[in-house]
Amino acid sequence: MSSLKSISNVFFLHGIFLFFALYHGFAYSVETDQFKAEVKRLEVLKDSNLTSAIEQLLKFQPLLNELSIKDKLVYFQLLSEMYVDQSQYTEGKRIANQGLQLAKQLASPSIKITQLLYTRGFAVESLGDIASATEDYKKGLEVAESLHNKAYIAYGLINLGAVYYLTDDYQRSLVILNDAFNIAAQTSDEELKGSVTSELGILYSYLKQDEQSTRYYLDSYNHFKKAGKLLFAHNSLHNIAIHHHANGRYQQAIRVFQTIIDESKTVHDNQLMYGVYSGMAWAHVDKEDSNPDVGYEYLLKAQKYLDFTEQHGAVLQFYMNQAFILFELKRYDETLASIAKAEEIFLSEENLTTIQSKNYVSLLNLRANTFFEQKTFKKAYELKSSVMLQIEAEDEKEDTLSIEKVRLNLESEQADLRNKMLQSQKSLNEAALSEVKLANEEQNIYLMVSALVALAFAWLLVKLLQSQKKLKVATSIDPLTGTANRRSLMHKGNKVFSLALNKKIAFSVLMIDIDKFKRINDQLGHSVGDQVLIQIAELGLTMMRKTDIFGRFGGEEFIVFLPKTSLHQAIDIANRLRRSIDEKVWQIVGLDLVTISVGVAAMQEGTSTDLASLIKKADEQLYCAKAQGRNRVCG
Ligand code: GH3
Ligand code: MG
Ligand code: MG
Repeated sequence: MSSLKSISNVFFLHGIFLFFALYHGFAYSVETDQFKAEVKRLEVLKDSNLTSAIEQLLKFQPLLNELSIKDKLVYFQLLSEMYVDQSQYTEGKRIANQGLQLAKQLASPSIKITQLLYTRGFAVESLGDIASATEDYKKGLEVAESLHNKAYIAYGLINLGAVYYLTDDYQRSLVILNDAFNIAAQTSDEELKGSVTSELGILYSYLKQDEQSTRYYLDSYNHFKKAGKLLFAHNSLHNIAIHHHANGRYQQAIRVFQTIIDESKTVHDNQLMYGVYSGMAWAHVDKEDSNPDVGYEYLLKAQKYLDFTEQHGAVLQFYMNQAFILFELKRYDETLASIAKAEEIFLSEENLTTIQSKNYVSLLNLRANTFFEQKTFKKAYELKSSVMLQIEAEDEKEDTLSIEKVRLNLESEQADLRNKMLQSQKSLNEAALSEVKLANEEQNIYLMVSALVALAFAWLLVKLLQSQKKLKVATSIDPLTGTANRRSLMHKGNKVFSLALNKKIAFSVLMIDIDKFKRINDQLGHSVGDQVLIQIAELGLTMMRKTDIFGRFGGEEFIVFLPKTSLHQAIDIANRLRRSIDEKVWQIVGLDLVTISVGVAAMQEGTSTDLASLIKKADEQLYCAKAQGRNRVCG
């Protein structure tokens, strides 16, 4: 049973993570003095009493015709933003549309257009249309870039970075959010800093790097507090509470959730409160002295907020949570009713994301368990076996996820899940055996359950064989950085080298060595050194093309094989990498600057004899770069 909960929690996290910070601060030219003053006041009121701020802003609607275009845009933008903050996305989108229509009359581009596009993008994203949201973010970003508006460039990157992690593109998200982070670091805009660190927290949580993630959440909490943005600060607290929960610190999670509830008496964000009460519910179910009754009460409190949020997936999430908690309460008929409602929503989706498919399977599994508890064994058995096949199918899909590290992590989680499932099969078997003693007719059940167990073990065997294959994968990966290790580098490198040699195409090698790395270890400790290696590997990986081979050659040295790349191009690539490391803002205390030196060697079309001598040449060039003073490229 606990295996099911862990899946549903994945879902529950995902739902809550759908959060964005919006922006603030307008430059307006105003004709109506009263309007100007009101807008200023309402922008502040919005942070403490959103409902009242909306009511008061709406009073200007009849007067709209008397305002200049710019003021009208201010009105539409602020109103749509308020609706979005209130989780009323359809209305937010409608108002933003009006603003964007009006903006067509502007003679020159305005940052208002960017703001409206970001707001509309966020509204449609929250309604589940990620493709249109991406379009809006990109367009808004273009306008911000044309106006050289740093803050809004950063917000555009933040929005896009979130879209990428939502669609499993973690690498792209990492690169783009780091860009936003670097821009924010150059400003003193606390809200902007809060937004980017909050998103980085979420991304790192997807990447299962808990420590890093919590650190970002705390940063964002502090930034938002400084900016006076209580709602957003609470959102960061909320994410921290979820982390406590995920790591089994239920009492701490409950305390943090309670803080948010206490502090939120005036500020009202429906979606956040929905998440907070759902989180409370699960914390009470999962804690050591589990109390599902109290948990269920919290879930019903969460439900009250549900009516006021249009967040895509929130209703589905609620029924899932309800089904799981009702099961804990042994209220099986009601469990089945909630499952049916959730299933209806699943079936109405066109495409399920990876996490959604997993949740659907976990829901079916819950249904099977409920049948079992209701002693309808045949149905339980049939459903269980189909669930197993579906988990298998999900596993295969999972292999396409973009980051190796993420994949390995998820695999171990699934292995855990499988073990738990097998355990539950066993107890199912035992329970059924005692049933068998009761009646003749139950003979059938015995047969059925035996078949079930046989199936489970056959399946386990297949899995074992597969995991042996995976062991092979593991021995080709450097455990610290998750990139190819020396052995697999040489293996892959030789293959592409021969291909290039035969086909007479260009081929280059970069030999990369971190400058004065020993000093980092000595001054800041070995674990900081490790972090630097990890982050440089990440950066290197993201900067290379798919066909390039990047990995850790050993110690603080990395190597890249670049097929179809001339010496000239390779030197360019090396310089780009060198510069981005040189300019990187390190979020490690005490660490300001890290540089690399790079040696480059290229095969003259089809002439070099073997890979080893090419690597040797690159190594000599590296030596030359070091001798010339480091932080440079020689080739
Ligand atoms: P140079 O600019 O000449 O390259 O100077 P350097 O200090 O980088 O070169 P040196 O080869 O003297 O030192 C490399 C250091 O890298 C020594 C070793 O302790 C450290 N190192 C090797 N592997 C790891 C690792 O996995 N983690 C950490 N933290 N340090 C490592
Ligand atoms: Mg070295
Ligand atoms: Mg070195």
